[in-house]
Amino acid sequence: MGITLARRGEQGQASMESVEKIRTVANDAETTTSDRSQFDRRMKPTVMIVEDEEALLTLLQYNLDKEGYKVLAAADGEEADLMIRETTPDLILLDWMLPGLSGIELCRRLRGRAETRNVPIIMITARGEETDRIRGLDIGADDYVTKPFSMTELLARIRAVMRRIRPALTEDLVTFGDIVLDRAAHRVRRGDREVRLGPTEYRLLDHLIQYPGRVFSREQLLDAVWGSDVYVEARTVDVHVGRLRKALSIKGEKDPIRTVRSAGYSLDEQFHS
Ligand code: CA
Repeated sequence: MGITLARRGEQGQASMESVEKIRTVANDAETTTSDRSQFDRRMKPTVMIVEDEEALLTLLQYNLDKEGYKVLAAADGEEADLMIRETTPDLILLDWMLPGLSGIELCRRLRGRAETRNVPIIMITARGEETDRIRGLDIGADDYVTKPFSMTELLARIRAVMRRIRPALTEDLVTFGDIVLDRAAHRVRRGDREVRLGPTEYRLLDHLIQYPGRVFSREQLLDAVWGSDVYVEARTVDVHVGRLRKALSIKGEKDPIRTVRSAGYSLDEQFHS
């Protein structure tokens, strides 16, 4: 998913760049080198695997990586808990029978913390653990698979859970009011017109549209859109937000971006109404 999408996206971006040559001259120097890695990083949802069977862990890691996910792996519950405190994954694949802290205990802990309360959990159970399965769903797991399971089926379930929880993270077509962002074609439409965006403005919109209503500081936008390893001044963000605004509202349409004084920017939640 992630890998194919990134390739298609790059081609789209290249053609859009040539259309936008004049307007985006200023962008080029700061975006060319990190374009690929930025695009990949942003598009990849993180899946955490908690599994003590080494062979299965390796197999899962391999397949999820191939599918385009960023993979975190832990062999026991305590280790997983520590890692999750560092980085909140987008989904957790959790084996029920673990040495030490069991899958069910870890699930309970995660559901008890605000940061992880809504992270989807798919549990992996051994055959015949019917009671555990029911307990698991009771305690807040979103889905389960029974060992031995088919990799194709597991991947399909992961995609289904992702789509349900965070549609804007995985879908090719993301809409916000009358704005449509088409990741496959790397295009943006507003109503019935095409919105011409430079590569940086496109990435800005793609980031904001994943979190409608959330306010991002200039520094957060720099990290997410330009990358933390690139030196760009914070006011550069204002310039690109300005360009994005102008392109989105060129026909006098309602401005979807909210400026929050001394805080940053967000996609306006009130925009739809
Ligand atoms: Ca196990």
